[in-house]
Amino acid sequence: MKNKSIFIVIAIILIIFIAIILYKNITGIEQEENNNFKIVTTFYPIYIMTENITSGAQNVELTNMTDTNIGCLHDYTLVTADMKKIENADIIIQNGMGLENFMSQILGTYSNIKTIDSSKNVQSKIEENSHIWMNIQNYIAQVEEIAKGLSEVNPENSLIYEQNKNEYIEKLKNIQEKYNLELSGLNGRKAICLDEALEYIAKQIGLDIISIKTDHEESTISAETMKNLIETMKNENINIILVESGDNLNNAQTLANETGAKIYTLNSGLTGELNKDAYINVLNQNLEELKGIQ
Ligand SMILES: [Zn+2]
Repeated sequence: MKNKSIFIVIAIILIIFIAIILYKNITGIEQEENNNFKIVTTFYPIYIMTENITSGAQNVELTNMTDTNIGCLHDYTLVTADMKKIENADIIIQNGMGLENFMSQILGTYSNIKTIDSSKNVQSKIEENSHIWMNIQNYIAQVEEIAKGLSEVNPENSLIYEQNKNEYIEKLKNIQEKYNLELSGLNGRKAICLDEALEYIAKQIGLDIISIKTDHEESTISAETMKNLIETMKNENINIILVESGDNLNNAQTLANETGAKIYTLNSGLTGELNKDAYINVLNQNLEELKGIQ
């Protein structure tokens, strides 16, 4: 009987001992996870910018709040999964210019969360058009603002943020140079633009555009607008139509058929692959399409 009691006491002590070790290990792992610097971007274009800036940074977690293929955020409503991602974030990075109209809701719930507004120092703004990232100079200003903001809040990685930013901007400037050299012939040409995001590309290369508000859906153009457009295109001899690559082409096709104008398809960088060079690839792809304008 005595032996049995000693055995039970030893067993209990052993169990408590093992439990303490296991508990320490588990909480230790959790502690390590919580120490990571957690960055959340609002949507795809901002994610790609931040992915370039944070590449190789230590103890950093980068998450995109919305689904990569969600497209533009004009009428976006937050879902539970979004709030879950923001809950543990150290910083949230937004495009700005009113595109993320849900920011007040986020800040209302998590008033202490730090934010970076990437549009802060953007120079070329078109009124009521928040698709600033499609102008390369604007995009560079956004990258600079994000790198600056991250370095302030997460100084242990500031050197790598700075280095990544400089390398990325170097690539962007090279492409900008190509746009300037290879598309100079388009300066002053008249064009119809059927997607708001493309206005920024058009203006950058000096196209003289008539822009139709479509909210990224050219199918929303009214019959009356179509009639007026056809008349204007004929009168002003406009033979360039710019559309977004994800868009339905019915109205653009009608305009082309009625006027003899040609359709050029550009990518607005709203969705795509998650790789770091995604935006660079979009710029190169658009450059090739624009070089084909007759
Ligand atoms: Zn949009």
